Amino acid sequence: MNKFEQLGLSESLLKAILDLGFENPTEVQEKAIPLLLEKDTDMVALAQTGTGKTAAFGFPLIQKIDANNRNTQALILSPTRELCLQITNEIKNYSKYEKGINVVAVYGGASITEQARDIKRGAQIIVATPGRMQDMINRGLVNISQINYCILDEADEMLNMGFYEDIVNILSTSPDEKSTWLFSATMPQEVARIAKQFMHEPLEITVGAKNSGSSTVSHEFYLVNARDRYEALKRLADANPDIFSVVFCRTKRDTQAVAEKLIEDGYSAAALHGDLSQAQRDGVMKSFRGRQIQMLVATDVAARGIDVDSITHVVNYQLPDEIETYNHRSGRTGRAGKLGTSIVIVTKSELRKISSIERIIKQKFEEKTIPSGIEICEIQLLHLANKIKDTEVDHEIDNYLPAINNVLEGLSKEELIKKMVSVEFNRFIAYYKKNRDITNQSSGSERRDDRDGAARPNNNGGATRYFVNIGSRDNFDWMSLKDYLKETLDLGRDDVFKVDVKEGFSFFNTDPEHTDKVMEVLNNVQLEGRRINVEISKNDGGGRRDHNGRSSGGGFGGGRSSAPRREGSGGGFRSDRNSAPREGGFRSDRNSAPREGGFRSSAPRSEGGSDRAPRRSESFGDSPRPRRPRRD
Ligand code: AMP
Repeated sequence: MNKFEQLGLSESLLKAILDLGFENPTEVQEKAIPLLLEKDTDMVALAQTGTGKTAAFGFPLIQKIDANNRNTQALILSPTRELCLQITNEIKNYSKYEKGINVVAVYGGASITEQARDIKRGAQIIVATPGRMQDMINRGLVNISQINYCILDEADEMLNMGFYEDIVNILSTSPDEKSTWLFSATMPQEVARIAKQFMHEPLEITVGAKNSGSSTVSHEFYLVNARDRYEALKRLADANPDIFSVVFCRTKRDTQAVAEKLIEDGYSAAALHGDLSQAQRDGVMKSFRGRQIQMLVATDVAARGIDVDSITHVVNYQLPDEIETYNHRSGRTGRAGKLGTSIVIVTKSELRKISSIERIIKQKFEEKTIPSGIEICEIQLLHLANKIKDTEVDHEIDNYLPAINNVLEGLSKEELIKKMVSVEFNRFIAYYKKNRDITNQSSGSERRDDRDGAARPNNNGGATRYFVNIGSRDNFDWMSLKDYLKETLDLGRDDVFKVDVKEGFSFFNTDPEHTDKVMEVLNNVQLEGRRINVEISKNDGGGRRDHNGRSSGGGFGGGRSSAPRREGSGGGFRSDRNSAPREGGFRSDRNSAPREGGFRSSAPRSEGGSDRAPRRSESFGDSPRPRRPRRD
């Protein structure tokens, strides 16, 4: 018996759950479903988005609806059209084996008469945005006087968006004896007021700590000069080759400007804000869901409905005016059990906001430094090396091999690898040679605490930096990897620092006295059957400037003899990456490269429809217009 079967769900729901591939209930499901099935009760559930709350109320609701009665029996209110459609879709999936259950979505910006017609045909469940629902009630197009269940989803968001009046009016139109289930990530006063006014002795469940951010999200900040904000964003994108992110700006204008700059610089980005038409917004969201857009630059209001799983990073390009909004932003990542990172690019004058946010989310930020050009090159190289290793060969290529072998005849394996790598690396290195590294600011005495590496004196200078072949793919974030390393190596609390986790690999530092131990112990450890490989990175301390502005990692030329290292490990440059800057002559190159033939063009083709990056490079290179929303 799996855990869903123990919750008291019907056979038809269990069958649908099987189809959906849900193996175990999430925490909110485990807590809410038995309570809601057992009796008709009001409930307040504190749960973030992405915790599986739609199913937590959807499953019991479907089981309780009388499919033979075509009257409207349940109303689900949600903040945005996007969420509304998503919930409708989920409920349809959940109820696919229930005969006669109809769900209708009701939201602004679409034909009200058509929605009214759909309801008239007999919809037991209506999923609505508050504004449109109120409108329909006013026009007598819907009757909610018989409903048994009312669900307020993302109640804090709805109230945040100014729907208080509408919600109060709607609830007042519905029968007193109905059950109300309220789901909210936070419990601001307005939500508590609604609960008090309209609910009777609600059961309360909390997932995770009250008012705290999701524990699957780690929080980082980068302290930079205001003039470096945009460059910092680009470098963070370059240092995270698989980034799939929402980048938050404060105003529509900044949102549009940042998106335009990113597009110009060759990144797969798009803007999402209120000045776009609904059709444009739909188009952007479709591309984002399809991962043709890697960086969605959005305002808080426009991003409210974004409910996309597997967002790897939320980037606070600017902090929100209301720091409470930070919680909503960061909740866009770390969903459905996945790990996510919320990044803040911050200037010194805004630094105090970080501490205020820490108090709200009850989690600490890690202070990090913007990677140097050399570090980015290294990351990108290793990323491609991993990718080459994981690439499945399409044997179509066999037909061309004799001709290719002819051309490459006489080159040794080592030479060949070096040349393949150089095809990309030479141009990339040329860019970063030309561009100064960002001077990372230090929060210094303003934020002295024991966060990772932040309080260590001279923590770059004498330290040994390592590369290790485990990363977020193995379910590590910087905190868990640090713990794992400390435990495996039997090291003290502060002995492992500057842990930087990428998808297939990570970097970390120790003091040199531990180097022998790290190399010996870690190279003989297996993680789930895979041998761990650790190497000393030539990129000491991350190759970053230290807090005094001294360069600790060296530059590309001069003193550094081996900047593009690890050639021997089979690396090459990301064939599909179009995020490297275009100025300096190679960005535009990159956009066209996949079609030029040779090494770079073959990789994207062979990857076809996988969820890898070719889609990104194709996105703007091939058809820029549809993905580049214009202002209205
Ligand atoms: P929600 O919080 O309802 O927006 O759900 C977030 C995501 O988690 C959705 O894509 C759901 O389909 C998915 N999900 C919900 N419940 C489960 C579960 N028990 N196991 C795996 N995924 C789930």
